[in-house]
Amino acid sequence: MNEFELIKQFFVRHQRDDVVMGIGDDAAVLRAPPGHELVTTVDTLIRGVHFPEDTSAYDVGYKSLAVNLSDLAAMGAQPAWATLALTLPDNNTDWLEDFSRGMFELAEQHMVSLVGGDTTRGELSISIQCTGFVPEGQAVMRSGARAGDLIFVSGTLGDAWLGLQSYSGEISFSDTDLQSARLRLNRPTPHITLGQSLVSFATAMIDISDGMLADLGHILEASGLAAELDLTRIPLSILARQYLSQGGELMHLLSGGDDFELCFTLPPEHQLQAQTISKQCGCPLTCIGTVQPGSGIVGRSEHETQTLQASGYQHF
Ligand code: ADP
Ligand code: MG
Repeated sequence: MNEFELIKQFFVRHQRDDVVMGIGDDAAVLRAPPGHELVTTVDTLIRGVHFPEDTSAYDVGYKSLAVNLSDLAAMGAQPAWATLALTLPDNNTDWLEDFSRGMFELAEQHMVSLVGGDTTRGELSISIQCTGFVPEGQAVMRSGARAGDLIFVSGTLGDAWLGLQSYSGEISFSDTDLQSARLRLNRPTPHITLGQSLVSFATAMIDISDGMLADLGHILEASGLAAELDLTRIPLSILARQYLSQGGELMHLLSGGDDFELCFTLPPEHQLQAQTISKQCGCPLTCIGTVQPGSGIVGRSEHETQTLQASGYQHF
Protein backbone atom coordinates (compact mmCIF):
# COMPACT_ATOMS: atom_id res chain seq x y z
CA MET A 1 0.00 0.00 0.00
CA ASN A 2 1.52 3.34 -1.00
CA GLU A 3 1.25 6.64 0.90
CA PHE A 4 -1.85 7.86 -0.94
CA GLU A 5 -3.74 4.57 -0.67
CA LEU A 6 -2.93 4.53 3.02
CA ILE A 7 -4.31 8.04 3.55
CA LYS A 8 -7.45 7.20 1.59
CA GLN A 9 -8.09 3.95 3.42
CA PHE A 10 -7.48 5.11 6.97
CA PHE A 11 -7.88 8.86 7.16
CA VAL A 12 -10.51 10.11 4.72
CA ARG A 13 -13.86 10.37 6.52
CA HIS A 14 -17.01 12.45 6.43
CA GLN A 15 -16.26 16.18 6.80
CA ARG A 16 -18.07 18.93 8.68
CA ASP A 17 -20.04 21.48 6.64
CA ASP A 18 -17.51 24.20 7.47
CA VAL A 19 -14.73 22.30 5.66
CA VAL A 20 -14.50 23.96 2.24
CA MET A 21 -11.56 21.72 1.24
CA GLY A 22 -10.34 18.82 3.38
CA ILE A 23 -7.89 16.00 2.63
CA GLY A 24 -6.76 15.91 -1.00
CA ASP A 25 -5.40 19.35 -1.83
CA ASP A 26 -2.24 21.18 -0.82
CA ALA A 27 -3.89 22.62 2.26
CA ALA A 28 -7.28 22.59 3.95
CA VAL A 29 -9.70 25.49 3.55
CA LEU A 30 -11.91 26.05 6.61
CA ARG A 31 -14.76 28.41 7.31
CA ALA A 32 -14.62 30.08 10.72
CA PRO A 33 -17.98 31.10 12.24
CA PRO A 34 -18.57 34.88 12.30
CA GLY A 35 -17.94 36.58 15.64
CA HIS A 36 -15.52 33.90 16.80
CA GLU A 37 -11.77 33.62 17.29
CA LEU A 38 -9.77 30.56 16.26
CA VAL A 39 -8.00 28.60 19.00
CA THR A 40 -5.27 26.22 17.86
CA THR A 41 -2.89 23.77 19.53
CA VAL A 42 -0.49 20.97 18.59
CA ASP A 43 0.91 18.04 20.57
CA THR A 44 3.42 15.38 19.61
CA LEU A 45 3.38 11.91 21.08
CA ILE A 46 6.57 9.82 20.98
CA ARG A 47 6.59 6.13 21.79
CA GLY A 48 8.34 5.46 25.10
CA VAL A 49 8.07 9.11 26.16
CA HIS A 50 4.34 9.90 25.97
CA PHE A 51 3.03 6.36 26.04
CA PRO A 52 4.53 3.04 27.16
CA GLU A 53 6.05 0.96 24.32
CA ASP A 54 3.31 -1.68 24.44
CA THR A 55 0.33 0.71 24.40
CA SER A 56 -2.27 -0.53 21.90
CA ALA A 57 -2.56 1.31 18.57
CA TYR A 58 -6.20 2.08 19.42
CA ASP A 59 -5.18 3.81 22.65
CA VAL A 60 -2.37 5.71 20.91
CA GLY A 61 -4.88 7.05 18.37
CA TYR A 62 -7.37 7.95 21.08
CA LYS A 63 -4.83 9.66 23.33
CA SER A 64 -3.13 11.61 20.52
CA LEU A 65 -6.38 13.42 19.82
CA ALA A 66 -7.53 13.54 23.47
CA VAL A 67 -4.50 15.56 24.64
CA ASN A 68 -5.22 18.18 21.96
CA LEU A 69 -8.93 18.36 22.70
CA SER A 70 -8.03 18.80 26.35
CA ASP A 71 -5.95 21.88 25.49
CA LEU A 72 -8.91 23.35 23.61
CA ALA A 73 -11.20 22.50 26.56
CA ALA A 74 -8.88 24.43 28.86
CA MET A 75 -9.37 27.55 26.70
CA GLY A 76 -13.14 27.09 26.73
CA ALA A 77 -13.10 26.37 22.98
CA GLN A 78 -15.35 24.29 20.74
CA PRO A 79 -13.11 21.91 18.73
CA ALA A 80 -13.71 21.60 14.98
CA TRP A 81 -10.75 20.51 12.85
CA ALA A 82 -7.58 18.46 13.18
CA THR A 83 -4.51 17.72 11.09
CA LEU A 84 -2.29 14.70 11.64
CA ALA A 85 1.46 14.44 10.99
CA LEU A 86 2.21 10.76 11.25
CA THR A 87 5.66 9.19 11.12
CA LEU A 88 5.56 5.40 10.87
CA PRO A 89 8.33 2.79 10.91
CA ASP A 90 6.38 0.72 8.33
CA ASN A 91 2.93 0.54 6.74
CA ASN A 92 1.52 -2.02 9.17
CA THR A 93 -2.15 -1.98 8.20
CA ASP A 94 -3.36 -3.69 11.39
CA TRP A 95 -1.71 -0.97 13.45
CA LEU A 96 -3.12 1.78 11.23
CA GLU A 97 -6.60 0.29 11.34
CA ASP A 98 -6.61 0.28 15.16
CA PHE A 99 -4.93 3.68 15.43
CA SER A 100 -7.48 5.34 13.15
CA ARG A 101 -10.40 3.63 14.94
CA GLY A 102 -9.18 5.00 18.29
CA MET A 103 -8.63 8.49 16.92
CA PHE A 104 -11.94 8.65 15.03
CA GLU A 105 -13.96 7.31 17.96
CA LEU A 106 -13.07 10.45 19.88
CA ALA A 107 -13.19 12.71 16.80
CA GLU A 108 -16.76 11.62 16.07
CA GLN A 109 -17.82 12.09 19.70
CA HIS A 110 -16.78 15.73 19.45
CA MET A 111 -17.64 16.29 15.77
CA VAL A 112 -14.03 16.98 14.83
CA SER A 113 -13.04 16.54 11.15
CA LEU A 114 -9.57 15.39 10.12
CA VAL A 115 -8.82 17.84 7.32
CA GLY A 116 -5.22 17.09 6.39
CA GLY A 117 -1.83 15.94 7.50
CA ASP A 118 1.47 14.49 6.43
CA THR A 119 2.68 10.90 6.31
CA THR A 120 6.37 10.02 6.55
CA ARG A 121 8.58 7.06 7.40
CA GLY A 122 10.75 6.96 10.54
CA GLU A 123 10.51 6.26 14.27
CA LEU A 124 6.85 6.22 15.37
CA SER A 125 5.69 9.73 16.23
CA ILE A 126 2.25 11.30 16.10
CA SER A 127 1.59 15.04 15.93
CA ILE A 128 -1.97 16.27 15.90
CA GLN A 129 -2.88 19.88 15.49
CA CYS A 130 -6.36 20.76 16.59
CA THR A 131 -8.26 23.97 15.94
CA GLY A 132 -11.52 25.20 17.37
CA PHE A 133 -13.20 28.48 18.16
CA VAL A 134 -14.56 30.66 20.94
CA PRO A 135 -16.86 33.70 20.82
CA GLU A 136 -14.64 36.79 20.40
CA GLY A 137 -12.76 37.72 23.59
CA GLN A 138 -14.06 34.72 25.57
CA ALA A 139 -11.05 32.38 25.66
CA VAL A 140 -10.04 31.58 29.23
CA MET A 141 -6.34 32.36 29.76
CA ARG A 142 -3.98 31.23 32.49
CA SER A 143 -3.35 34.81 33.52
CA GLY A 144 -6.78 35.86 34.78
CA ALA A 145 -6.79 34.52 38.37
CA ARG A 146 -7.41 37.05 41.16
CA ALA A 147 -6.58 36.95 44.87
CA GLY A 148 -9.59 35.51 46.71
CA ASP A 149 -10.66 33.25 43.82
CA LEU A 150 -11.46 29.63 44.63
CA ILE A 151 -9.38 26.89 43.00
CA PHE A 152 -11.31 23.97 41.52
CA VAL A 153 -10.34 20.71 39.85
CA SER A 154 -12.54 18.31 37.90
CA GLY A 155 -12.64 14.53 38.47
CA THR A 156 -9.98 12.81 40.55
CA LEU A 157 -6.21 13.35 40.57
CA GLY A 158 -3.28 10.97 40.27
CA ASP A 159 -5.01 8.05 38.58
CA ALA A 160 -2.98 8.37 35.38
CA TRP A 161 0.20 8.34 37.48
CA LEU A 162 -0.99 5.12 39.11
CA GLY A 163 -1.69 3.77 35.62
CA LEU A 164 1.88 4.56 34.60
CA GLN A 165 3.26 2.84 37.71
CA SER A 166 1.36 -0.29 36.73
CA TYR A 167 3.76 -0.70 33.78
CA SER A 168 6.91 -0.57 35.95
CA GLY A 169 5.44 -3.08 38.41
CA GLU A 170 6.55 -1.05 41.44
CA ILE A 171 3.03 -0.96 42.85
CA SER A 172 0.91 -4.09 42.71
CA PHE A 173 -2.69 -3.90 41.51
CA SER A 174 -5.60 -6.29 41.28
CA ASP A 175 -6.61 -7.04 37.66
CA THR A 176 -9.62 -4.70 37.71
CA ASP A 177 -7.66 -1.87 39.40
CA LEU A 178 -4.88 -2.24 36.85
CA GLN A 179 -7.40 -1.98 34.02
CA SER A 180 -9.10 1.11 35.39
CA ALA A 181 -5.79 2.88 36.14
CA ARG A 182 -4.53 2.14 32.62
CA LEU A 183 -7.76 3.45 31.14
CA ARG A 184 -7.14 6.75 32.91
CA LEU A 185 -3.62 6.86 31.45
CA ASN A 186 -4.40 5.67 27.92
CA ARG A 187 -7.86 7.09 27.25
CA PRO A 188 -8.06 10.46 28.95
CA THR A 189 -11.39 12.27 28.76
CA PRO A 190 -11.12 15.79 27.33
CA HIS A 191 -13.57 17.97 29.26
CA ILE A 192 -14.92 19.91 26.29
CA THR A 193 -18.44 20.63 27.56
CA LEU A 194 -17.14 21.53 31.00
CA GLY A 195 -14.53 23.93 29.57
CA GLN A 196 -17.14 25.68 27.42
CA SER A 197 -19.62 25.90 30.31
CA LEU A 198 -16.99 27.68 32.41
CA VAL A 199 -16.19 30.36 29.84
CA SER A 200 -18.32 33.05 31.52
CA PHE A 201 -17.31 32.17 35.08
CA ALA A 202 -13.71 30.92 35.31
CA THR A 203 -11.04 33.61 35.62
CA ALA A 204 -8.19 31.25 34.65
CA MET A 205 -8.05 27.66 33.44
CA ILE A 206 -5.52 24.96 32.49
CA ASP A 207 -5.67 21.25 31.76
CA ILE A 208 -3.64 18.99 34.02
CA SER A 209 -1.10 17.39 31.71
CA ASP A 210 2.13 17.71 33.72
CA GLY A 211 0.72 17.24 37.25
CA MET A 212 -1.72 19.31 39.29
CA LEU A 213 0.92 21.24 41.23
CA ALA A 214 2.95 22.08 38.12
CA ASP A 215 -0.11 23.14 36.13
CA LEU A 216 -1.67 25.16 38.94
CA GLY A 217 1.82 26.67 39.22
CA HIS A 218 1.47 27.89 35.60
CA ILE A 219 -1.79 29.68 36.43
CA LEU A 220 -0.21 31.27 39.51
CA GLU A 221 2.90 32.36 37.65
CA ALA A 222 0.90 33.82 34.75
CA SER A 223 -1.41 35.60 37.20
CA GLY A 224 1.40 36.71 39.58
CA LEU A 225 -0.24 35.06 42.61
CA ALA A 226 0.05 32.29 45.22
CA ALA A 227 -2.23 29.46 46.36
CA GLU A 228 -3.26 27.85 49.59
CA LEU A 229 -4.51 24.29 49.17
CA ASP A 230 -6.55 22.21 51.60
CA LEU A 231 -4.90 18.82 51.11
CA THR A 232 -7.75 17.05 52.91
CA ARG A 233 -10.07 18.06 50.05
CA ILE A 234 -8.09 16.69 47.10
CA PRO A 235 -10.52 14.49 45.10
CA LEU A 236 -9.14 10.95 44.94
CA SER A 237 -10.42 7.72 43.42
CA ILE A 238 -10.89 4.60 45.54
CA LEU A 239 -7.69 3.29 43.97
CA ALA A 240 -5.72 6.40 44.93
CA ARG A 241 -7.06 6.23 48.50
CA GLN A 242 -6.01 2.62 48.67
CA TYR A 243 -2.53 3.58 47.47
CA LEU A 244 -2.29 6.24 50.22
CA SER A 245 -3.55 3.87 52.92
CA GLN A 246 -0.72 1.50 51.98
CA GLY A 247 1.90 4.19 52.64
CA GLY A 248 1.85 5.91 49.23
CA GLU A 249 2.66 9.60 48.93
CA LEU A 250 0.06 12.22 48.09
CA MET A 251 2.75 14.31 46.38
CA HIS A 252 3.15 11.63 43.70
CA LEU A 253 -0.56 11.89 42.91
CA LEU A 254 -0.36 15.69 42.74
CA SER A 255 2.81 15.78 40.61
CA GLY A 256 2.07 12.92 38.20
CA GLY A 257 1.06 13.92 34.67
CA ASP A 258 -1.59 12.86 32.19
CA ASP A 259 -4.76 13.27 34.30
CA PHE A 260 -6.21 15.74 31.76
CA GLU A 261 -8.60 17.10 34.34
CA LEU A 262 -9.34 20.83 34.28
CA CYS A 263 -8.00 23.13 36.99
CA PHE A 264 -9.61 26.58 37.14
CA THR A 265 -10.15 29.58 39.36
CA LEU A 266 -13.51 31.16 40.07
CA PRO A 267 -14.63 34.17 42.15
CA PRO A 268 -16.45 32.97 45.33
CA GLU A 269 -19.72 34.57 44.15
CA HIS A 270 -19.81 32.05 41.28
CA GLN A 271 -19.43 29.00 43.51
CA LEU A 272 -23.07 28.00 43.04
CA GLN A 273 -22.61 28.14 39.26
CA ALA A 274 -19.81 25.61 39.61
CA GLN A 275 -22.21 23.21 41.34
CA THR A 276 -24.83 23.68 38.62
CA ILE A 277 -22.26 23.18 35.85
CA SER A 278 -20.91 20.09 37.61
CA LYS A 279 -24.42 18.55 37.59
CA GLN A 280 -25.10 19.57 33.98
CA CYS A 281 -21.80 18.11 32.76
CA GLY A 282 -21.98 15.03 35.00
CA CYS A 283 -18.46 15.80 36.15
CA PRO A 284 -17.46 16.25 39.80
CA LEU A 285 -15.87 19.61 40.60
CA THR A 286 -14.03 20.07 43.88
CA CYS A 287 -12.82 23.27 45.50
CA ILE A 288 -9.29 22.50 46.72
CA GLY A 289 -8.10 25.91 47.87
CA THR A 290 -7.88 29.64 47.30
CA VAL A 291 -5.75 32.08 45.34
CA GLN A 292 -3.66 34.35 47.57
CA PRO A 293 -1.40 37.35 47.08
CA GLY A 294 2.30 36.46 46.82
CA SER A 295 3.93 33.46 45.16
CA GLY A 296 4.24 29.71 45.68
CA ILE A 297 1.85 26.98 46.83
CA VAL A 298 1.15 26.13 50.46
CA GLY A 299 -0.66 22.93 51.43
CA ARG A 300 -2.60 22.55 54.67
CA SER A 301 -3.51 19.17 56.10
CA GLU A 302 -4.97 18.29 59.52
CA HIS A 303 -1.73 18.61 61.42
CA GLU A 304 0.69 20.60 59.31
CA THR A 305 1.20 23.31 56.74
CA GLN A 306 3.88 22.77 54.11
CA THR A 307 5.31 24.59 51.11
CA LEU A 308 4.69 22.48 48.00
CA GLN A 309 7.02 22.34 45.03
CA ALA A 310 5.21 23.02 41.76
CA SER A 311 6.91 19.98 40.27
CA GLY A 312 5.69 17.86 37.39
CA TYR A 313 6.88 16.22 34.21
CA GLN A 314 9.54 18.14 32.25
CA HIS A 315 11.26 17.08 29.03
CA PHE A 316 14.50 19.01 29.63
P1 ADP B 1 1.68 17.73 -0.04
O1 ADP B 1 2.80 16.97 -0.68
O2 ADP B 1 1.04 18.73 -0.92
O3 ADP B 1 2.02 18.23 1.32
P2 ADP B 1 0.72 15.16 0.66
O4 ADP B 1 1.03 14.36 -0.53
O5 ADP B 1 1.62 15.10 1.84
O6 ADP B 1 0.50 16.66 0.19
O7 ADP B 1 -0.75 14.79 1.18
C1 ADP B 1 -1.84 14.66 0.28
C2 ADP B 1 -3.10 15.02 1.01
O8 ADP B 1 -3.33 14.09 2.05
C3 ADP B 1 -3.05 16.41 1.66
O9 ADP B 1 -4.35 16.97 1.57
C4 ADP B 1 -2.71 16.11 3.09
O10 ADP B 1 -3.22 17.10 3.96
C5 ADP B 1 -3.38 14.75 3.30
N1 ADP B 1 -2.68 13.89 4.27
C6 ADP B 1 -1.43 13.41 4.23
N2 ADP B 1 -1.15 12.62 5.29
C7 ADP B 1 -2.25 12.62 6.04
C8 ADP B 1 -2.61 12.02 7.28
N3 ADP B 1 -1.76 11.25 7.97
N4 ADP B 1 -3.84 12.27 7.78
C9 ADP B 1 -4.70 13.06 7.10
N5 ADP B 1 -4.44 13.64 5.94
C10 ADP B 1 -3.23 13.43 5.41
MG1 MG C 1 3.32 16.41 2.39
